[in-house]
Amino acid sequence: MIVYDIVIIGGGPIGLNCALQAEKAGLSYLIIEKGTIVNSLYNYPLYMTFFSTADKLEIANIPFISTAPKPGRRDALEYYQGIARQRNININLYEEVLKIRQAESFLIETNKDKYHAKNVIIATGFYDIPNKMEVKGEDLPKVKHYYSEPYPYANQKIAVIGSSNSAVDAALETYRKGAEVTMIVRHSEISKSVKYWVKPDIINRINEGSITAHFNAEVVEITPGTILFKDENQELHEIENDFVLAMTGYLPNFEFLKNSGIELQGECLKPLYNEAIMESNVPGLYLAGVVCGGKDTHLWFIENSRIHAEIIVNHILNKN
Ligand code: FAD
Repeated sequence: MIVYDIVIIGGGPIGLNCALQAEKAGLSYLIIEKGTIVNSLYNYPLYMTFFSTADKLEIANIPFISTAPKPGRRDALEYYQGIARQRNININLYEEVLKIRQAESFLIETNKDKYHAKNVIIATGFYDIPNKMEVKGEDLPKVKHYYSEPYPYANQKIAVIGSSNSAVDAALETYRKGAEVTMIVRHSEISKSVKYWVKPDIINRINEGSITAHFNAEVVEITPGTILFKDENQELHEIENDFVLAMTGYLPNFEFLKNSGIELQGECLKPLYNEAIMESNVPGLYLAGVVCGGKDTHLWFIENSRIHAEIIVNHILNKN
C-alpha cells in the first residue's frame, strides 16, 4: 500500500505550488483534481485579464513570461499547465475527492479509487458553486452564473447582476457587441475592487446612458421574457429580458470541509486553521489558497496565497 507524505486536493495554482514545494523537499505527493489542470482558470471568461502582473502570479520562482504587463487567461493556462508538463507533476485528472477519513493515516476516497496519506492539503478554491440569488426563475436556462464571452448576447436584452470585476467586464463586453445592458446592483455604487483601469469606462458608460444601472436594487423574480426588481425606493419594475448574467460570486464547498472535520466559524463560515502553519483543527489536514477565506472570497487570491505552499511543506518537514 502506498502512503503518500501528502495528498493535495485541487490542481489550481496553489495546489500546483504545494506539489512543487513537496518535490523540492523530497516528500512524496499526489494531486487529485476533478477537472483539467488549473480547472478554475480554464473556466474563467475567455478574454479576461488578471489584475496582477505576471511576476505576482509566479510559483516556485519559475518565470512567468508575458508580453502584456497583465496576463490573460490563455497566458496563465500556458504558464501553469506548462509547469505541470515540464516538471512532470504527479496529478490525477478528472477525479473528484468525495471524502477524507481519518484513521492511522488519512484515507482519501474519490469517485474512482482510494488513497492513503500522512498529510492532506485542501486547495479546492471556490469557483465551483455559484452564490445563488435564491429568487423565483433563477433556474431558467437564460440565467447564467458563469460568463464566457460576449458573442452569444449580440442584440439581446441583458441584465447583469452585481458590480464587481466579473459583472463590469460582462456588462462592457456585451454592450460593445450590441447588447442592451441593464445592471442591477445591490450596493450604492460600482464595487471599489473593480480594476482601476476599467472603472472609468463603466462609470462613463453609465453616466452617458449607454448602459443602464440601478443601484440599491434587488432582483425579485425572473420570468422567461422579463426580470422583476425593486429599486432603491422599493418600487417594483418589470423589464423585458433575454438573458440574465448573475455575477453574484461563488462559494467554497462548505459541506466537503465540514465532512472532513473542519470547523467553520462565524457568518463567513471561515474554516478554522492556525495561520502560522495553515493546519486546520484536524491535525495533518491543511488548507491552502482561496478556500481559506470561507464566504469572504476576496480575502485570498494567487498573489497573496501562493506562500501557503511553502508554509505547509516547511511545517510537515519539521514535524517529521
Ligand atoms: P482554484 O484555482 O479555484 O483551484 C481549485 C481546484 O480544486 C480547481 O481546479 C477545482 O477543480 C479543484 N477541486 C475542487 N474541489 C475538488 C474535489 N473535491 N476534488 C478534486 N478537485 C477539486 N488572483 C490573483 O492573484 N490575481 C488576479 O489578477 C486574479 N484575477 C482573477 C480574475 C477572475 C475572473 C477570478 C474569478 C479570479 C481571479 N483571481 C486572481 C483569483 C484567483 O484566480 C484565485 O485566487 C485562484 O484560482 C486560487 O487558486 P486556488 O488554487 O486556491 O484555487
